[in-house]
Amino acid sequence: MPISDEEWQKKLTPEQYSILRKKGTEPPFTGKLLYNKDKGTYMCTGCGAELFSSEAKYDSGSGWPSFWKAEGNSIELKEDRSHDMVRTEVLCKRCGGHLGHLFSDKPAGKRFCINSAALKFRKGK
Ligand SMILES: [Zn+2]
Repeated sequence: MPISDEEWQKKLTPEQYSILRKKGTEPPFTGKLLYNKDKGTYMCTGCGAELFSSEAKYDSGSGWPSFWKAEGNSIELKEDRSHDMVRTEVLCKRCGGHLGHLFSDKPAGKRFCINSAALKFRKGK
């Protein structure tokens, strides 16, 4: 059953809620997972779906956790035309939570630029 907006507000912190459910963005260089270099799995804060592996994480210098690929079939991409730009929005396939955006640039070709608050980290494999 889909989770109601009210339930999301109870389940998530205000910051998590504004990002996952309202498509917000955390300020750059503030995320707690930005400099995390431990081996493990990054999961959706909203539903716990496994989204990214630490093996795909790299430092893009953008100020947000960056990954060059997503795990399996865990994410959904959508065209986002907000703020007078055409970008690719990255969403969690399972709960529909907003995670961040996907860019095409160097050196990785693909850069999943993800809000730290949308992710929770599980150490180990
Ligand atoms: Zn999710």
